[in-house]
Amino acid sequence: MARVQMQSATLKFRLQPPSRRGWFHRIFGEPRKSLQLLEAAHGCPLCSHRDAYLLASCARDGAPLRTVLCRGCGLARVDPLPDAESVSQYYRQGYRQEYKGVVEPKLHHVLRSGRIAVRRMRMLRRWIQPGQTLLDVGCGGGELVFVLSRQGIVACGHEEDSCYAEYARREFGIVVSDGTWQTFEECQNRFDMITLFHVLEHLPQPVEALARLRSCLAPDGRVVVEVPNLEFAFTLSLNRFHRAHLYHFNPFTLSAVGERAGFRALEVFTSEDGGNVTAVFAAGPRPEGVERDLGANVARVLSQERRRSAARYFLSPMVWKRTLVRLARMAEERIRVQRYSSPRAILESLLAGEAGSEFRGG
Ligand SMILES: [Zn+2]
Repeated sequence: MARVQMQSATLKFRLQPPSRRGWFHRIFGEPRKSLQLLEAAHGCPLCSHRDAYLLASCARDGAPLRTVLCRGCGLARVDPLPDAESVSQYYRQGYRQEYKGVVEPKLHHVLRSGRIAVRRMRMLRRWIQPGQTLLDVGCGGGELVFVLSRQGIVACGHEEDSCYAEYARREFGIVVSDGTWQTFEECQNRFDMITLFHVLEHLPQPVEALARLRSCLAPDGRVVVEVPNLEFAFTLSLNRFHRAHLYHFNPFTLSAVGERAGFRALEVFTSEDGGNVTAVFAAGPRPEGVERDLGANVARVLSQERRRSAARYFLSPMVWKRTLVRLARMAEERIRVQRYSSPRAILESLLAGEAGSEFRGG
């Protein structure tokens, strides 16, 4: 029964059946005319414009999926957007089954997520200290919540996928809710920090989602949002767009979405390889005198899109280096996890070299 429900949710979210588009377009991208102007089905959630440039007309699996770039601000989005209930049902029941082919993380997934969690913990040390409270929205298997808890942070998580939430509770003994976002409305002023790592791009209404979290934040609290960077150059057209990512942000539009939700951006930065963009927000309006030039951002993104080409991708040494590093990492993960008997043992091992004293004030 559960299996049938899962398939039906996935099919509902799939906007159209897979197309017969050839591999040529999927590898080499849309023809130059793809930046043609069109009228989107809905207004942009950031600037309300409906005029947009067509970035792509199919997803990485070849299914029809229109991705457009807003002419008013440079925010990219799927068009038309699916409705919120279909999206929520998809994440509750079908996303990870479809994306990773599993209903629970395997040990090598835990090792990879655990390493990412340790890196995120090091980054968060600047803004939170032991004894303070943190909510990790979209916490997956709970690796970040666990490692932060072990460093003295009072951390809990929220995960729409009930199988992953149950897994996190069972394996790590942490507090993870798996209800709808309405759960957060009971958490007035509760959290010193709320984190959303690779969550916002999946939400059909990112401004409303961030605004809802504002009431859960302590007066001096911080919201940390990390998303994939639209400007990342080393992505093949084949892998760039898929239906789970409803929005594609760059540093400018991520800051602007936060501001629309009632926050001010304290810091915005990209990862070392440029693949991710992270913003740290606090509640409150944008400081006086700071203006955002939406038109300049559109011109910047358009210029980058026009420079993209398959030749540029395949001739880049960085691309080949990344591919080799990724293959080596996958092999190493599968060998290393054989040492461990449980997910908890993996995270304990990763934490062995981390000292709580490195936290601010700890
Ligand atoms: Zn816009």
